[in-house]
Amino acid sequence: MLPFIRSDLAKLTAYTPHPGGTSGEPVQSDIAIDRLDTNESPFDLPNELKEKLVWTYQQVIENNRYPDGGHAALKSAIAEYVNESAVSLVAQASSLSITPANISIGNGSDELIRSILIATCLRGEGSILVAVPTFSMYGILAETLGIPVVKVDRHENNFEIDLEAAQKAIEQTQNPPIRVVFVVHPNSPTANALTPKELDWLRSLPEQILIVIDEAYFEFSKTTLVGELQQRPNWILLRTLSKAFRLAAHRVGYSIAHPELIAALEKVRLPYNLPTFSQAAALVAITHRQLLLASIPQILAERDELINSLTENSALKIWSSSANFIYLRLTDSDNNLNEQKLSHLVQQLKAQGTLVRHISGGLRITVGSSEENKRTLQRLQAALNN
Ligand SMILES: *Cc1c(COP(=O)(O)O)cnc(C)c1O
Repeated sequence: MLPFIRSDLAKLTAYTPHPGGTSGEPVQSDIAIDRLDTNESPFDLPNELKEKLVWTYQQVIENNRYPDGGHAALKSAIAEYVNESAVSLVAQASSLSITPANISIGNGSDELIRSILIATCLRGEGSILVAVPTFSMYGILAETLGIPVVKVDRHENNFEIDLEAAQKAIEQTQNPPIRVVFVVHPNSPTANALTPKELDWLRSLPEQILIVIDEAYFEFSKTTLVGELQQRPNWILLRTLSKAFRLAAHRVGYSIAHPELIAALEKVRLPYNLPTFSQAAALVAITHRQLLLASIPQILAERDELINSLTENSALKIWSSSANFIYLRLTDSDNNLNEQKLSHLVQQLKAQGTLVRHISGGLRITVGSSEENKRTLQRLQAALNN
């Protein structure tokens, strides 16, 4: 270890981004790979939008100039989208009026997670609470900043948070106390939305604790807590353009919260965090949301078909999903054996060209195109049968 590197970093390993991986043979290159391990949309931008972006790149973007560091145009477009998309979902929607002052934009929501941690817990001032299994970035980013991560479990049957354990953790964690609670709505990798009971618990927490509600899969779940933000200055929502908006390549995420909280995040973000072309792509995507989000019903129908077909296989336990991915485990009760079997299963799928995510004792599989999902079914059934 280099002598000038922080000693606690020695224990950490770098996140292995897609499509890397530490185990198994490289995928054969002569077959098409179904990348169903990172919950992206299976559909690239339509050509007409790509052409608009080509034109923007050629005619508008000045490569020698810094990006717009204030994100003004994009914030307005996002605010409009947030208000519009809440109309049919939120009881208070008529009085809902999210403005650019309620929005901060990040280089992916990953950057926003890091900004939240910097603005709240750094200098030994706070720990974070997560309920596992959940999105790994909260814990990973906290650890790189030396912020303690308190973990509680979820109930095995439906992956609801063990609220008793969570409450106890909040009451008993000191030096530093829990300052931020991270939840995903619906959760990854388990695809369940927050229940009324979980929501009541979140509402019961004191205002000294920041509640981060990650709505990365909002367009699939069609459920949002944006209607409650007005009354809750200690809540922040995270959204991303990496999933339903088909823009993972461009790294754009946004947060919605009380203007004072947004101002704190803006203080700690890098001034030019969002490249000009990413801003242009995000603006095109948000402006043409009707066209892009038209793919959602198909993905949801494909998801339900996948779940129905896999439910017939008695070797699998499969949960319902409020997102664009499914989560399953093996029904066999021997956990050690199951882990081996799952690893083998993942390798078999990979050898045939389907990448899935082996996580928390199960498999998370993204809903892909119709052809991809057919192959997923065939390959999974075949692998389970031998
Ligand atoms: C995919 C995902 C994100 C998106 O992260 P970006 O950095 O915006 O790509 C955020 N939260 C969860 C839970 C996710 O699954």
